[in-house]
Amino acid sequence: MNKIEHVGIAVNNLKIAVFTYEKLLNSAVYKTEEVVSEGVITAFLQCGPNKIELLEASTTDSPIAKFIAKKGEGIHHIAFEVDDIITEMERLKKEGFVLLNETPKQGADNKLVCFVHPKSANGVLIELCQEIK
Ligand code: ZN
Repeated sequence: MNKIEHVGIAVNNLKIAVFTYEKLLNSAVYKTEEVVSEGVITAFLQCGPNKIELLEASTTDSPIAKFIAKKGEGIHHIAFEVDDIITEMERLKKEGFVLLNETPKQGADNKLVCFVHPKSANGVLIELCQEIK
């Protein structure tokens, strides 16, 4: 894995969270995107070489809605950039990690993504992401 690509934060209200994080980072949102398959609306902010992804549920049965109902707002996942997501998924499977999807999915911000179950990683949901070229 190359680096932390972004940190995902689950929020109740994207508009309010964008307002807060734009002030916090002194940086404007550069992309807002709905990922219908995941039931989320996302907003990305750049902070130096890193990114913050704010996530609001767009449906009541969205994983983000469930996360917030259980834990409240807060850090939802850490995403790591990989060059070859298939190879990395195979490597992690061999190492005994539980992947939440068997094949890469289309994620936000022009990425192929795969999630690693939090129970495999000390309670942290891990996202692998590979830029679509
Ligand atoms: Zn993410």
